[in-house]
Amino acid sequence: MPAPSPRPRAEVVIDLDAIRHNVRILTGCAAASGAATMAVVKADGYGHGALEVARAALQAGVSALGVCSIDEALALRHGGIDAPVLAWLHAPGEDLAAGVAAGVDLGVYSIGQLDTVAAAAAVLGRAARVHLKVDTGLSRGGACRAQWPSLVRAARAARGVEVVAIWSHLAHADDPEHPFIERQVRHFEEAYQVARDAGLTPLRHLANSAATLSRPDLHYDLVRPGIAVYGLSPVPGVDYHLFPAMTLRSQVALVKRVAPGEGVSYGHVWHADRETTLALVPVGYADGVPRALTGRLDVWLAGRRCPVVGRVCMDQVMVDCGDAPVTEGAEVVFFGSGQGGAPTAAEWADKLGTIHYEVVTGMVRPRVARTVRGRRPAALNPLGSDPIGLDRCGARGAR
Ligand SMILES: *Cc1c(COP(=O)(O)O)cnc(C)c1O
Repeated sequence: MPAPSPRPRAEVVIDLDAIRHNVRILTGCAAASGAATMAVVKADGYGHGALEVARAALQAGVSALGVCSIDEALALRHGGIDAPVLAWLHAPGEDLAAGVAAGVDLGVYSIGQLDTVAAAAAVLGRAARVHLKVDTGLSRGGACRAQWPSLVRAARAARGVEVVAIWSHLAHADDPEHPFIERQVRHFEEAYQVARDAGLTPLRHLANSAATLSRPDLHYDLVRPGIAVYGLSPVPGVDYHLFPAMTLRSQVALVKRVAPGEGVSYGHVWHADRETTLALVPVGYADGVPRALTGRLDVWLAGRRCPVVGRVCMDQVMVDCGDAPVTEGAEVVFFGSGQGGAPTAAEWADKLGTIHYEVVTGMVRPRVARTVRGRRPAALNPLGSDPIGLDRCGARGAR
């Protein structure tokens, strides 16, 4: 057996200090308007590792966690997390009772779901905590205007059901001055009044990352930031002093000189126009480096940007290093914090015509290791104050 490689061939490195820094910005922002913070850790913490991110976020001051599915919530419970967890999107046949049994808060969109939850509460002999969702114009989940009054009345009447909150989700939060936001807010306020008139006194929550950072007037009782927790700006072009927590990196597996005119990788779509050094990096589209980035991708290698040349293959790419001295085993960063001008997930997203959310959530791959840095026992983590968070709060960008 060969000696094990000192580093994985491909890995995402997750920086929990960055997560805590970002969370302090968000909780500072929310606290300034009297709101609590729920860190959203769905989709395995946007590809960063839900359990590790959840622990770091709780250390840094969030009071609750948000996920999509009950399975995701149960995984947090099994990991020892006893903070409030809200699971908000259920497919037919999913085990809502398991959520109630584990003390998971459940998003409820319809009377059918409410009945299922109430039945589970009766069987289990414990109260089900529900967050009623109103569709205020995203036209996705939640009860429409016509169904809302009956949902609210049914929830008020249901035995064993505690209505913790009403909530909704914005369609244009990443454009903080968009006029549709005001329409959704008016609808949300009406929905709240309907709930009050039915005898409920629920909390309210509406804001994702973008609204948390740019619209303090929409914080209500609780904010639900996701992407900003991971250090990626939710409003294109606005810098909130967040720090990206994920780095995708690999290492040089082979170095070779090629002569002018040599074609490189499948189809020879690139030819060397001079004698140059090529580095083979053992990461390809099976590891999350999109083939669509062929000809448009740079990596950070030997302290500078170098282009990936020729087609991106399933398992590998070739990097043109010019005459830089490059050795096997040298670190190659595909994206990360962007410090020094290195590529970022946002840059990939721009080139791909997508959003950085998709880039980072796509990095859960069987051949890509995940290395977590900055783990701390809770007792050793006194909460620091973060003046940056309050400074940046309310910035809507130059629109
Ligand atoms: C994913 C999600 C969020 C977090 O959104 P970000 O834009 O990542 O901050 C908040 N609320 C709901 C309902 C979501 O689905």
